[in-house]
Amino acid sequence: MPFLYDMHTHTNRSFDAEAPLAAQCKRAEELRLNGLCITDHCDVNVQSLLCARTVFAAGGADIRRMQEEGNLPFRLWQGIELGEPLEDLPYAEEMLGLLPYDYVIGSVHNTPGQQDFYFMDCSSIDLDSALKPYFEELIRLADWGKTDSIAHITYPLRYIEGKYNRKVELSPYLDLIDHLFRVMIPKGLALEINASGLRQEIRRPMPDERFIRRYYELGGRKIIFGSDAHAAKDLASGIPECMELCRSIGFETAVYFEKRREFSYKL
Ligand SMILES: [Zn+2]
Ligand SMILES: [Zn+2]
Repeated sequence: MPFLYDMHTHTNRSFDAEAPLAAQCKRAEELRLNGLCITDHCDVNVQSLLCARTVFAAGGADIRRMQEEGNLPFRLWQGIELGEPLEDLPYAEEMLGLLPYDYVIGSVHNTPGQQDFYFMDCSSIDLDSALKPYFEELIRLADWGKTDSIAHITYPLRYIEGKYNRKVELSPYLDLIDHLFRVMIPKGLALEINASGLRQEIRRPMPDERFIRRYYELGGRKIIFGSDAHAAKDLASGIPECMELCRSIGFETAVYFEKRREFSYKL
């Protein structure tokens, strides 16, 4: 039985998720996960700092209680999905210092200054003016280097292609994506393989195979898997398929984090 770690999951402490912590833990037990990391949203450009502090302090207390009293047959960790940290650095720094997280995801959900692609009407937006600054922001995020991974780097496609059915030609952005990987690799930032796309309209992981291969070609070996489950039924969904894909590309190991230290396991 291969190891199974889900390092990107949400509970009802995220604005867009419905699963209580107990439901996520129950599902993790049913699936015989080795480790589950709760990474609720902290989008610094959306949520007030006061609200984020309150939510994470309460969420952290719940997770500690569950770790101590839940008699869990898997490792439970507390993470954070720090969204758009560069849009308010003092806020992001304060949240990084708030709790002793196990794992910090860095993510971007919007073109800087615009709204999340999740909320955006992508039917008529100019793709180049949305995507180029998006990838440039990911490079700046990697350059900042204070997260453990960079998540779902093809996030806009989940909406532009998946929801709005507009084909995106990524050739103009290949240099930017190479640049991103060339910043991430020497800094030791993990590339998240986000499985949520497999159960959504886009029908492929984020990033998709082409970019996972490119990361490998450039020498990247540090991958981390997450289902991005917002409901218990989606926990770990798509991760075995993503693991198989990565094995076929040549990856032999993947990583998880505990107390922000990285551990690798065999794929
Ligand atoms: Zn995200
Ligand atoms: Zn997420």
